[in-house]
Amino acid sequence: MDEPEMVLPKHSFCSWLIVQQRLLTQDRLLRMHIVSHNCCYLCGLQEESHDHLFFECAYSQQCRDLISAWCQIQFPVKNSIMWWLKWRNRVVGRKQDIAVILAGLMYWIWVAWNHCRIEGALRRLEYLVQNIRNEACMRLRVIKSQNVKYANWLESIM
Ligand SMILES: [Zn+2]
Repeated sequence: MDEPEMVLPKHSFCSWLIVQQRLLTQDRLLRMHIVSHNCCYLCGLQEESHDHLFFECAYSQQCRDLISAWCQIQFPVKNSIMWWLKWRNRVVGRKQDIAVILAGLMYWIWVAWNHCRIEGALRRLEYLVQNIRNEACMRLRVIKSQNVKYANWLESIM
């Protein structure tokens, strides 16, 4: 499966784990009889699954809204891993920028989920947003040097 070439390798690995549904989310642990209840680490409100963590969770949605406001892009986000899988395999041209930012968003949600699971503490959204922005800007500067069309937009978000 090909990732958009601009996506960072660590983001790419994380996306692969998500698409393969390999994370030990509580819905899986419950099916394996390892836990006795299922409550999302990030929002504490709903049952945890891959689709929930990355697309439906209130914490993830807030993070996505902050990133959307920063980069001035309305993400074409639907509510499932299957959508993400189909979408990212079709991205070309301008949408590669969106793929870079979305892959970073999913990676940092994954980091926040791990942190919460291990440390029992929720990362502040500002921390996630700052990291997503820094990494995306670093990647997108490469596009900027290659494509004059994006210069104004990139200048405005950096
Ligand atoms: Zn949640």
